[in-house]
Amino acid sequence: MSYLGHSYDHTKMKLTTLQKWLRTINWLRREFPPRYPVTICSQSLKGLSGDCIFKNHRFLIRINSKKAFSERIDTILHEYAHALTWFGADCVEDHSDEWGLCYAKLYRAWDEWDYGRAKDDPQTNT
Ligand SMILES: [Zn+2]
Repeated sequence: MSYLGHSYDHTKMKLTTLQKWLRTINWLRREFPPRYPVTICSQSLKGLSGDCIFKNHRFLIRINSKKAFSERIDTILHEYAHALTWFGADCVEDHSDEWGLCYAKLYRAWDEWDYGRAKDDPQTNT
């Protein structure tokens, strides 16, 4: 199989879902650096969209790779908000007000960021 790239339209900057996914992870790490290292892995999870585990001063975020892209984005923002607002409590599913604000902030920022494409559009610079 060869990839000549002749069908790639640079002007439209089309991104595959994998590119969007990796950009989103890099963007999160860059814009919202967590207190502890965060490992993000995609895998098949039965009956679960994703979760966030804190262990040995590291976060592990697991995302169900079987879910649709939009749901995986939703999940990673949700779980990443846990990593940013977690103070080491035992309870994993603690959706506190602080977490809710963080999640909303991440979602809004992610929406505005638009995979970095907005930078090329002067109208979105506010
Ligand atoms: Zn949660």
